[in-house]
Amino acid sequence: MNIKNIMLGSGLLVLMLFLSSCMLTNTDGKVNTAKYNVEKLKDLHNIVPIAILGSGPAGLCAALYGGRAGFGVVVAEGTLPGGLLTQTTLVENWPGQVEINGPDIIKNLKEQSAKWGANFMLDTVERVDFSDWPFKLFTQDGRELNALTVIVATGATPRYLGVPGEQEYWGRGVTTCAICDAPFYKGEDVVVIGGGDSAAEEAMQLAPYAKKITILVRKDHMRASKVMQDRLKEYKQISVLYNVEVKEVQGDDAQVTGVKLYNNKDDATTVMPISGVFLAIGHIPNTGFLNNALTLTKDGYIQLDSRTQETSVKGVFSAGDVSDARYRQAGVSSGHGIAAGLDATFFLNEIGYNEGFEHGLRGEQRLFRHVQEDEYKVTEINSLAEFEALVLESELPVIVDFYAEWCPTCMHMLPPFAAVAQDFEGRVQLIKVDADQADEIMKKYHVQKVPALLAFKDGQNIARFVKTMTKTELVEFAESLLVEEKE
Ligand code: NDP
Repeated sequence: MNIKNIMLGSGLLVLMLFLSSCMLTNTDGKVNTAKYNVEKLKDLHNIVPIAILGSGPAGLCAALYGGRAGFGVVVAEGTLPGGLLTQTTLVENWPGQVEINGPDIIKNLKEQSAKWGANFMLDTVERVDFSDWPFKLFTQDGRELNALTVIVATGATPRYLGVPGEQEYWGRGVTTCAICDAPFYKGEDVVVIGGGDSAAEEAMQLAPYAKKITILVRKDHMRASKVMQDRLKEYKQISVLYNVEVKEVQGDDAQVTGVKLYNNKDDATTVMPISGVFLAIGHIPNTGFLNNALTLTKDGYIQLDSRTQETSVKGVFSAGDVSDARYRQAGVSSGHGIAAGLDATFFLNEIGYNEGFEHGLRGEQRLFRHVQEDEYKVTEINSLAEFEALVLESELPVIVDFYAEWCPTCMHMLPPFAAVAQDFEGRVQLIKVDADQADEIMKKYHVQKVPALLAFKDGQNIARFVKTMTKTELVEFAESLLVEEKE
């Protein structure tokens, strides 16, 4: 065989490989018309053209673009409506705004996407079925939705230490949110655990309140950016301890009194007396509810196509911290949310679901739309005298919700709390207490974190939850008090 023939042969081989790769790409790139067939929507109700899971910057920007494209958009706001940005104060790197508060970014984005038709519901998707189309979404409040596209923007949850005392004193000195809880630590000594930008930020958020703030870093250096580390030096009440690991959170049964520290450089164990522990040790992507329905990276983030926001399932997209281990910035999440919103609209067009089709479904009232419940007026008390009369002397079991206006999660829990108060009228009494107006009650019941829910029966405090509850959880909580009543 001469060299010319060899070259001709290998040339043909390359051409064949190229053609077969084109054929593969074309077949792969095309939507499977049997699975994604709009005929399947015949007779179906509760249809959501673009379902968005999560209401941080990624979810809200996706909602804006989906809504502007003229499609029905439903946002399941999740357990932390507005996402982690609602727990920050000043943001200096939101493009186009020299300074803006985190909650205001969310408020503006929500208003903007609602203006374009996005429909919000205070509910959380707890199970999905992506094996067939339309995709099935099952929510905590018992809704079952038929989604034509899904955008997963569920963010990431703060990481915990996993040491003794951490859970026991959760909400009684241990927290992950300085912006939420700093005012409770006026004149106290506290620690912030972690060496990243969040730890630096939390320490600075605590500075106007706490007397002494010690940042505990397990290595001999901080991972935080230079600008943040330089800024820390401007605060005389903030100091940094290196090479220390927290081994235990200690308390006196009511609240935190100290942390047991191990110095990994000189092998010494000490106890530091403090009354607040602020965790800032990173986050874990919120993918548990997917139950392997999407491919994840080795670190547990949702795996994306390299050029778009598409996941391993066609028609399901993702944006924000749940699929971004690298940037984790509100601005980046917003951009990716926009891309995901556009990807969803491209997909709908591709499968032949257009404005005309949607108009027809709307006319037949087969699109899902959440209608806000009218808010029921919940009794509010602020003084110990009212507390005694309406809570301790009540003949019914009582659930007391401690909230504050500056706490976004508390404010988001008030509408479901009101709805449950209405449902249980005459069986369980639901009462709210404004933490800023009720110092005596807060002190008497050691409430150091909001939202906090305390249950009372026959004048006794019988249960305590320091977390945001969904409507379903509130109903279960109220029902559990009635069950005990019958027994
Ligand atoms: P990071 O992952 O950056 O930092 C986590 C820190 O916690 C690290 O110092 C890590 O230590 C430490 N840590 C982890 N596990 C433990 C443990 N079990 N015990 C003790 N320490 C532990 O998370 P952040 O939340 O700080 O930041 C996330 C992203 O958000 C970053 O990209 C950051 O830049 C950004 N961000 C930006 C802000 C801003 O610009 N204003 C504000 C806040 C966050 P080690 O270093 O040893 O691994």
